[in-house]
Amino acid sequence: MGGVQSLRTDLIVVGAGIAGMSAALHASGRRVVMLTKAAFGAGGASPLAQGGVAVALGPMDSPEIHMADTGAAGAGLCHEEVVRVITNEGPARIAELVEWGALFDRRPSGIFQLGREGAHSMDRVAHAMGDATGAELVRTLASAIMRSSRVEILEHHMVVDLLFEWGRVVGVVAITREGRPLVVTAAEVILATGGVGQIFAHTTNPVEATGDGLALAAGVGARSAGLEFVQFHPTALVGPDLPMALLTEALRGEGAVLVDDRGERFMPAEHVLAELAPRDIVARAIAVRRRLGRKVLLDATGLGSLESRFPTVVELCARQGLDPSQDLLPVSPAAHYHMGGVVTDLEGRTSVPGLRACGEVAFTGMHGANRLASNSLLEALVVGARCGEDLAHESHQTPVAVNDGHKHSNFPLADSPWIDDGGNTTVADELRWIMEAGAGVERTQGSLKVAREQLHDLRRRVVPQPGELAHMMRVANLILKAAETRTESRGAHFRADVPWSSRCWLQDLVFEGDLLIPPHVVQPAAAVG
Ligand SMILES: Cc1cc2nc3c(=O)[nH]c(=O)nc-3n(C[C@H](O)[C@H](O)[C@H](O)COP(=O)(O)OP(=O)(O)OC[C@H]3O[C@@H](n4cnc5c(N)ncnc54)[C@H](O)[C@@H]3O)c2cc1C
Repeated sequence: MGGVQSLRTDLIVVGAGIAGMSAALHASGRRVVMLTKAAFGAGGASPLAQGGVAVALGPMDSPEIHMADTGAAGAGLCHEEVVRVITNEGPARIAELVEWGALFDRRPSGIFQLGREGAHSMDRVAHAMGDATGAELVRTLASAIMRSSRVEILEHHMVVDLLFEWGRVVGVVAITREGRPLVVTAAEVILATGGVGQIFAHTTNPVEATGDGLALAAGVGARSAGLEFVQFHPTALVGPDLPMALLTEALRGEGAVLVDDRGERFMPAEHVLAELAPRDIVARAIAVRRRLGRKVLLDATGLGSLESRFPTVVELCARQGLDPSQDLLPVSPAAHYHMGGVVTDLEGRTSVPGLRACGEVAFTGMHGANRLASNSLLEALVVGARCGEDLAHESHQTPVAVNDGHKHSNFPLADSPWIDDGGNTTVADELRWIMEAGAGVERTQGSLKVAREQLHDLRRRVVPQPGELAHMMRVANLILKAAETRTESRGAHFRADVPWSSRCWLQDLVFEGDLLIPPHVVQPAAAVG
């Protein structure tokens, strides 16, 4: 293949976050090549997760109650069976992590110390080192991977294309930071590439979250759904840090309150759960005030010293010269989590043979229109493990004949596929502001139409090579189409021009590749809760 280096393996995992590592670890007996854009053990959203993992471990709790809370947050679009399986399997996955050495915070009696977050009716969020849960889980899984001789890790490799032969995905094309192409072929490819937050100007998501997996899957015609549902976290710290520093919801769970610049607390008038209302409601209440030129501040001064319970928050604030036990913290909503993604079953199978997906890139139906706080690490752990286990048990043949000569004539690329390497930063920023203005916390038919026209114009002016910018453009286009089509407000999708929910929209919007499946509404979704 003309000087392009190639590798063959049983299983390719694209992404080294909690979902990808869980899948790789459970695919026993399979040789795995794991590619990540970042350094192994860093990058992606997983190490940034603060609050923890939602799991029914408390004495008064049960998977059924967890399921009901998940369904209530999901606003009628959660898939009942999926929620049942994931909430039921959570405790076993936590036990497995403990076996592998994860150090969760515990009470003096030895039982888990469980936190409370928005829209949970129980203390249910298992955490580690206060608010450094993601880092502890990544450390645990990464150590287990390092002990395994089955997994070959390729750091700083960006997958820019999927190899597609005779209706089946048979491998990937990756580019190194130095611009060298690499072709890897395998019987199965698992996308575990995380979210899309980087297509918005305000986001808590890391630089890697450019929607690559969703765009790659759409490129081979895979089904995706729930794309209009982007969760905006209400309390990102306003300041120069990009991505924006997250002030975990657990702070509000412990009693921190939101005030405006007159010092008035406003959430009790907005929702019976006040600061612990579902995220979309808190985010909108903040966005409305900020649009009117008011500041919104998180007041955690009543919580005493935060060093031991929230060391990450204390450090993130200190970087901006703030002390959360003394200062009010300026906050704004920021794109945080994508409920939508590549449609999969509970073993990560997509609609395209040879292609699986798990973690934030996937749409299992778990989160409906709005994710319940701390349910994403749970889903990544459970579905990642199920996906790996399923592949361990299946006997897959590595395809031998891959006709890739024609496909790689454009590799190596003239420009770097990394946004931060090339001259694409300005275009990416333009795209981010288009999405922020048109498809942010509040959308309207008008704002979405303008955004779509601006994006169309951008795509005519700039035709990017395979890589992050191309992925961002494709994903932005899909999200805008979905948000325009859903003419109601539900969960995280708030249409200011139609601020009500309609029973006829109690269904998923599904795309095949870049096209909405006609009729647009195809998959009845069971409401739980
Ligand atoms: C600040 C923050 C705090 C959060 N707190 C919580 C919390 O407390 N509880 C909770 O449940 N959820 C939380 N979330 C959400 C949760 O962290 C993520 O949904 C979850 O970690 C996603 O895991 P993942 O494995 O799917 O993806 P990620 O952890 O994002 O990993 C994606 C991986 O894919 C790689 N990648 C991407 N594209 C490519 C490509 N083209 N080629 C090669 N590699 C690629 C990246 O390098 C990375 O290794 C938080 C998110 C953020 C941003």
